[in-house]
Amino acid sequence: MTRRPSSSGGARQVRCRCGRPVLRQLVGLRAALDVTADAGPLTAAAAAALREPNRLDWCVRTRKDGPDLAWVDRSHPADCPRPHVIDHQCTAPPAGPPRRRTTRQPPVAEGQLTLG
Ligand SMILES: [Zn+2]
Ligand SMILES: [Zn+2]
Repeated sequence: MTRRPSSSGGARQVRCRCGRPVLRQLVGLRAALDVTADAGPLTAAAAAALREPNRLDWCVRTRKDGPDLAWVDRSHPADCPRPHVIDHQCTAPPAGPPRRRTTRQPPVAEGQLTLG
């Protein structure tokens, strides 16, 4: 674990591989969660309506250095005036190589190295 001195928090807006703009941030002090949320802001009520057990909504606080996602916990007001975002559900095919390739190259036989 290395701490970057510039990582004072805050969300970065990046483009997901599915093409949608998303906000990415590590949220949480102890067990930080790598959050990818839809960049489009919702109202607190709309985000709460979309919330699922594996899909959380986040309260977006605007700091001087950009947006900052915060947990929506029990103490969070239901009529929060801040914009909220909901976890991004990616429509892109999963990353990683599903197809197998034979990565083993035939070994170069000794004595067959050609120079020049
Ligand atoms: Zn809120
Ligand atoms: Zn995506």
